[in-house]
Parts: sequence; C-alpha cells; structure tokens
Amino acid sequence: MEDFCTVTCPHCFQKIQIAIPDPFSRSGEFDYDCEVCCRAILVKWQRDSGGELFADAEAAEA
Ligand SMILES: [Zn+2]
Repeated sequence: MEDFCTVTCPHCFQKIQIAIPDPFSRSGEFDYDCEVCCRAILVKWQRDSGGELFADAEAAEA
C-alpha cells in the first residue's frame, strides 16, 4: 500500500506529489527534497477518521 499526497513547495510554489513513507501510521512528518527546485522541505501529514490524507509543507532549515 502506498499513499500519495500533494503539497505546494514553500520555495518554488510548485505542486508536487509525494509518496507517504509510512502509510500505516495516522500521522507523521519527514524531510523531502523538492523535485522541482531541489530544496529541502518538511512535510507534515495526517489522516482523518475516514482515511483521507492531509499534508502540509514548510521550508526546512538547510
Ligand atoms: Zn520547490
């Protein structure tokens, strides 16, 4: 099972689709390098009671 979320990169504002690394958890966060501008972002995600995925991205300190 693999889940994807779409977030907007805080650096270049492109929408990127990211696979959640731990799909059996309810929530989590992980570092990711934007595929468009290659800068580091921190993705925070959580799943609601219906199993729908919500994710947010913020700039990670280099
Ligand atoms: Zn970017």
